[in-house]
Amino acid sequence: MSSCIFCQIINKEQSAELVYEDEKVIAIKDINPKAPIHLLIIPKKHIPSIKEIEEQDKELMGCLVFAAKKIAKDKNLPGYKLIFNVGREGGQIIDHIHLHLLANK
Ligand code: 5GP
Ligand code: ZN
Repeated sequence: MSSCIFCQIINKEQSAELVYEDEKVIAIKDINPKAPIHLLIIPKKHIPSIKEIEEQDKELMGCLVFAAKKIAKDKNLPGYKLIFNVGREGGQIIDHIHLHLLANK
């Protein structure tokens, strides 16, 4: 089993409230929400943080933003915040890239 909690969720070895899944990306509800809607959009590929992305990950990073757009549209969110925490000093706790989607609706 992977030591990474998000890899475990992706591999269905740990439960999570799944709100979206496609070939490359999943989105789950944050276990400790900081807003009425707080989702985490996660690539299935394990990349520790934005610091480690490479040229070949450009499309995948775009997929995260497009998944956010699709989820927000499906939920009729009038506005939202998208946040990457990067590194411990940037507030990142889980070392598997994830895009936070926060909304008040
Ligand atoms: P970070 O600070 O790394 O950018 O954000 C990690 C987020 O993951 C936090 O908002 C935290 O509440 C959430 N989180 C941590 N462990 C779990 C978990 O096991 N399941 C879910 N759904 N969210 C988690
Ligand atoms: Zn991982």
